[in-house]
Amino acid sequence: ENYANTINALARKHKPEVILAGATTAGRSLVSRIAVTLYGGLTADCTELHVDKEKKILVQTRPAFGGNIMAQIICPDFRPQMATVRHKVMPEAESDPTRRGEVILEAFDAAWEDKRVKVLEFVTENVLTVKLAEADIVVSGGRGMQNPENFAILDELAKALGGAVGASRASVDSGWIPYSHQVGQTGRTVCPKIYIACGISGAIQHLVGMQSAKYIIAINRDADAPIMKVADLAIVGDLFKIVPMLTAKIKAERGIA
Ligand SMILES: Cc1cc2nc3c(=O)[nH]c(=O)nc-3n(C[C@H](O)[C@H](O)[C@H](O)COP(=O)(O)OP(=O)(O)OC[C@H]3O[C@@H](n4cnc5c(N)ncnc54)[C@H](O)[C@@H]3O)c2cc1C
Repeated sequence: ENYANTINALARKHKPEVILAGATTAGRSLVSRIAVTLYGGLTADCTELHVDKEKKILVQTRPAFGGNIMAQIICPDFRPQMATVRHKVMPEAESDPTRRGEVILEAFDAAWEDKRVKVLEFVTENVLTVKLAEADIVVSGGRGMQNPENFAILDELAKALGGAVGASRASVDSGWIPYSHQVGQTGRTVCPKIYIACGISGAIQHLVGMQSAKYIIAINRDADAPIMKVADLAIVGDLFKIVPMLTAKIKAERGIA
């Protein structure tokens, strides 16, 4: 409430064209309050943003209709244009010290404080989930893993690489691995340096959660699976042969017993 009151007051004063927030629990809750109060347009959970310079409009892309299409949404008539962007959906920007923006300092006005709100407790986020979102290397398993026991080979590969284990919704829904590992539209968005998809077909709902990874390796016995088209390295074959070979090779290279 306090943040929303503050931003509402500042937005009325400075009339920004665009307000952006992370699609975190706090960000989602914050901008929806602002959108209602300022009567602006809000697109939640965007996967891509760009500015149409000619029309001076923010073009907001997000999955729609269950992820079957990527919709481009614009807000031509109302200001501010607001969007939330999912964590890790875009690669981190390089720092450019030559860029200069204007910083306007405003003093906090006590009138913006909502006396009804009190912070009672901070609860630390599930460490496992954070590790997946922050990991430089993610090894994910899909329906091709066949059962929960087989995830042990992915654990071993991830451990050898110092990475984390992810999963497709099919393997989460099958009860093979907890939901906190799910990558995709209804799971976590990850942007690791390397994403290794094992036995994952590459449905659009999975791709939106990992396609901004810097290097994608797909192991699949179907050369025509959609994941093979987005992969930088597509390995056609049986994951149960390839993954243990890869783990053994990495362990040997790194001198891990
Ligand atoms: C609203 C909505 C939200 C969704 N959200 C998500 C989401 O967040 N994340 C997500 O992942 N999905 C999501 N889905 C589900 C998505 O549409 C797919 O159904 C799901 O991603 C498929 O998972 P999969 O690739 O593991 O399984 P499959 O599509 O069945 O693919 C299994 C793959 O494994 C390969 N394979 C099998 N055996 C082997 C082997 N021995 N070696 C090598 N390859 C092998 C097969 O060739 C196949 O390509 C969502 C769907 C909807 C409708």
